[in-house]
Amino acid sequence: MSLKSDDPNYYAHHYNWVGENGQQKRRIRILDSTLREGEQHPGVSFTIKQRIQIAWMLDSFGVDQIEISPVVSPDHAVATKTIIKQGLRADIVAHTRAIKSDVDIAIDCGATWVATYMGISDIHLSAKLKITREEAKTRALEVADYIKSHGLKSRFTMEDASRTEPAFLIEMCKEMNRRGIERISIPDTVGIMRPRGMYNLVKMIYDSIDKSKTSLDVHCHNDIGLALANALSGCEAGADQIHTTIDGFGERTGIPSLSETSVALTLVYKSNNDLRLHMLRDLSKTISEYTSLPIPESKPVVGDSAYKHKAGTHLAAILRNPAAYEIIDPKLVGNRRKIVFGELAGKNGAAYLLTLLGLETSKHEAETLAKGLKELRMGDILELYLDDRLERKILNDAPVKVSATKE
Ligand SMILES: [Zn+2]
Repeated sequence: MSLKSDDPNYYAHHYNWVGENGQQKRRIRILDSTLREGEQHPGVSFTIKQRIQIAWMLDSFGVDQIEISPVVSPDHAVATKTIIKQGLRADIVAHTRAIKSDVDIAIDCGATWVATYMGISDIHLSAKLKITREEAKTRALEVADYIKSHGLKSRFTMEDASRTEPAFLIEMCKEMNRRGIERISIPDTVGIMRPRGMYNLVKMIYDSIDKSKTSLDVHCHNDIGLALANALSGCEAGADQIHTTIDGFGERTGIPSLSETSVALTLVYKSNNDLRLHMLRDLSKTISEYTSLPIPESKPVVGDSAYKHKAGTHLAAILRNPAAYEIIDPKLVGNRRKIVFGELAGKNGAAYLLTLLGLETSKHEAETLAKGLKELRMGDILELYLDDRLERKILNDAPVKVSATKE
């Protein structure tokens, strides 16, 4: 089958955009909440210095907003104040409860953006806040007015929006919209939505508000692994900002990871963000060091196995053209391509291994080595970074053309 374009991903992009005439190709922003949601992950706590460094790294990476909560502790207030003073390009969003005294702490830190939140589903109102819908509305709007009277930019988070009675949710959004609250966050706080449900929820709100005054955020939890899919679906319905954390950790199973979100937006959604994707692996490593949470090997984009190739037929194809099994060059995200030789190396893998060792590579030798590797039953024996030099050497030196079937 011939491709219509040089891009091996051509047909995939075609399916992704069929019927949409590129209308959806708009910029989707990123708010990173590593310093707020991330610190809510069990066992995670950064020092003030680490918080400041993370903010610098996120800003340099290119996120649009960085969220931090100044009300958690005096240390957090110091970090918030210091980060705001750095004059970063990203907005620094001070996250507080919808309580005036919390907003005062944000103001004391010099915040120009304040995000407040309130659980507005019946279960949050009864089990957490112990107030009625009317009381919640009054309280939330008083705080919104208070923030606006200080000339601040603001976001209101409709906590547990996905389980809130639609009429009340819309009423709350309209009130915020009327007050000129710049952003409303629509969270799936418990991670119960499917992508179509998130689309319907966001669309309902998007169609109810004056878009010239208010834009929408999506904050999706990952309790059944649908966080990023749901967030992207919410953006297809009109939201234009996704909440992430580096490596995706947060309350319970967290929210979308910055790395997966960035690559999805750039590669799949063609969103025109100015992101330094090559920083992703380093961001991940830094956070892993600070939190002592290991990066799972199979984690997309930044994991150690994200661009590791093992099966014999895969190896053969990768050496000829990495696009056979990779949707982007690992270098673009600061990761590296690796090849593994072992039980599954097959004839092709064995032939390449012989080449690397400078040994003769006839079909017979390759088959013998492949059989030997299998019988050793030692799993993976050798793992190599596949850089340009090594790729050229293998391809130039390998006289064996072993058929790439049934490996
Ligand atoms: Zn959250």
